[in-house]
Amino acid sequence: SEVATMMDKPVTDIISACMMLGMMVTMNQRLDAETLKIVAEEFNYTVEFVGAEVEESIEEVEDKEEDLLPRAPIITVMGHVDHGKTSLLDYVRKANVIAGESGGITQHIGAYGVTLEDGQKIAFLDTPGHEAFTAMRARGAQVTDLVIIVIAADDDVMPQTKEAISHAQAANVPIVFAINKVDKPNANPDNIKTQLSSMNLLVEDWGGNIQSQEISAKTGQGIDELLEKVLLEAEVLELKANPDKNAVGTVVEAQLDKGRGYVSTILVQAGTLKIGDYLLAGKHSGKVRAMFDERGNKVQVAGPSTPVSILGLDGAPQAGDKFNVFEDEREAKQIAAKRSQLQREQSVRTQKTLTLDEIGRRIALGDFKELNIILKGDVDGSVEALTDSFQKLSTEEIQVNILHKGVGAITESDVLLASASDAIIIGFNVRPQSNARVVADREEVDIRTYSIIYDAINDLKDAMEGMLSPEM
Ligand code: GDP
Repeated sequence: SEVATMMDKPVTDIISACMMLGMMVTMNQRLDAETLKIVAEEFNYTVEFVGAEVEESIEEVEDKEEDLLPRAPIITVMGHVDHGKTSLLDYVRKANVIAGESGGITQHIGAYGVTLEDGQKIAFLDTPGHEAFTAMRARGAQVTDLVIIVIAADDDVMPQTKEAISHAQAANVPIVFAINKVDKPNANPDNIKTQLSSMNLLVEDWGGNIQSQEISAKTGQGIDELLEKVLLEAEVLELKANPDKNAVGTVVEAQLDKGRGYVSTILVQAGTLKIGDYLLAGKHSGKVRAMFDERGNKVQVAGPSTPVSILGLDGAPQAGDKFNVFEDEREAKQIAAKRSQLQREQSVRTQKTLTLDEIGRRIALGDFKELNIILKGDVDGSVEALTDSFQKLSTEEIQVNILHKGVGAITESDVLLASASDAIIIGFNVRPQSNARVVADREEVDIRTYSIIYDAINDLKDAMEGMLSPEM
């Protein structure tokens, strides 16, 4: 309605323009920036954004090169179930309790920092598995610098291992393989390396460029070496942050604690957080009353790559929410309120993620370069056949990428990967699991299932030619 007034057109015209673009909207609905532009173009108007939104006020200032100092890498551990993710995280945590520190680890706070003997630091996100990793990424938070993928040497490269690799690759995050359980008599690390090499993942001691380390999360063998390799790999990334400004970062997890109120674990990514700072995280705000490390020790300040749990927010923000520090308490509260309002209004949301129809439309508009696909099938043969055919559809203008492929039902993790990477999911003779369907509805991820290869290829081709008829 506001747009209609500005362009002096009847509201119904705007609504039908939106419908032509495949969006069912109501008069009071907010349109996102991209949609606004397209709709306005339909009426020969150009949209200029002049920063009326309060959100604009938290635009970040570019850091000066000389203010940037090295920061510790932030690591996520992923891998197949039972291959030893939790054991590795536990071992690292216990082995690196700083001498003289009392008590040891008392609570799980979703993230922790370790200091190695030589003083180097690493921050671990203690949310093993790619679900948390990708759920955060789906919310726009790229926190992890580097991924450790644990593979049990007495087992094989399993479906979840492959998934973890796809998730890390889709996020463009370097991988270090931890080949675990080498204390077991039937451990066969070479078998794992062979399987990896057949997936085009060549580890360093086999002449490739991917770091790997044989470890035992039970005895601790190889873990120091693993951490050294992680640091080495991190060095290449030249991770830096400016510690000397108001803190910014991401929420790792949050909950309501009976005695203490809302406790949020956050990861400071740049700047330094201090007690008394006024914080805005997602839809919540509040003054930092106290900060604790993972051992429950009080801390006064938290610099870049430091996880802390904090008290003082007026609610529980979501994992993946960004946080900022505000000089002006009123402004932070205003933005928090605005965000809550926006979220309510957008509960009838406009399309966020991609559907095959949307791809056709955007290709027709000429603003589309890559088509990301997650492919699941009933047997390896059909998955490979479809991969080949899909990739052959790539043209000079549009690159078809198979982000992940595998045998088996479409899982929640596939949907999260699709949501985080703007991909569509194609199932061949497989269906989504029921929870995958729920998440797909929520994240608005397009899942297409086929039982005839020819149909799948044709649909994709039609979409790429911008002439797909909507799925009934
Ligand atoms: P996760 O599901 O990947 O978190 O795996 P866990 O850390 O829970 O480990 C699964 C099982 O493997 C547990 O029974 C662990 O005790 C065992 N395990 C993990 N690492 C090792 C290891 O290095 N050696 C041996 N022998 N057992 C291990």
